[in-house]
Amino acid sequence: MSTDAQRCSVLSVGEPSAFLAERRKGKSSFVIAVDHASARIPRRLGDLGLPPTELERHVAWDIGALAVARLISEALDAPLVAQNYSRLVIDCNRYPDTETSIPATAELHQVPGNVGISDAEIRARREEIFEPYHNALTALLEQRESDNRPTILFAQHTMTDVFKGVTREMHAAVLYGLDRRFAGFALDALRENKEFVIADNEPYTVVQGVHYTIPFHAESRGIPNLEIEIRQDLVSERAGQIAWAERICVALRAAERRFRTLE
Ligand SMILES: [Zn+2]
Repeated sequence: MSTDAQRCSVLSVGEPSAFLAERRKGKSSFVIAVDHASARIPRRLGDLGLPPTELERHVAWDIGALAVARLISEALDAPLVAQNYSRLVIDCNRYPDTETSIPATAELHQVPGNVGISDAEIRARREEIFEPYHNALTALLEQRESDNRPTILFAQHTMTDVFKGVTREMHAAVLYGLDRRFAGFALDALRENKEFVIADNEPYTVVQGVHYTIPFHAESRGIPNLEIEIRQDLVSERAGQIAWAERICVALRAAERRFRTLE
């Protein structure tokens, strides 16, 4: 491998940083992570060989997730860290050595710009996009730990309403891996509103060794946590984003009250 190849870089001068961080000193117990906040592709990667319609779909990002997360962050005064580039560049909720870290296919289509890429390019995506985002989360969690502040990690996602031709009936889902303590309370609270179907660890769960944010940042530190998926068609517009942010805030507050009685 040549020296030039080793110096491969992904982000150009003047492009937005790898992550957004807001309300770092927020008073809430909640820290909000948005792994799939953006559909942005670095200029140097062009369109990854995909048509514009694909780059706007859920395969590129979690539609509405950042907008909902920002409303929750504001309402709760909770710190928020969000990825600033598409999951098609590198998926920040996958361990970097998994197959889907830099996905060669996105739902049904091949991603030409991700096929046969060099080790130097893989390393550049990891170092310039994945690591800065997760380092920001680590720094925030370590700071709170050293300040003796309680923390609950909340990962906000949205999911497609139709996956591989199958329509999803649930409106939202609460997901977790090894630690259901907080997620169970949040699920109970969300289910109090009978108007909505809230799934319990479906249509998927937090998978050890594959999914990254909850296992790496929360489970490894014993931090209570949950992931919430909202169906994207419910939060693609402002009114839905506001309504779901309010619903989630009510549920998070109720779950936190129950959780504190255990401690
Ligand atoms: Zn997501």
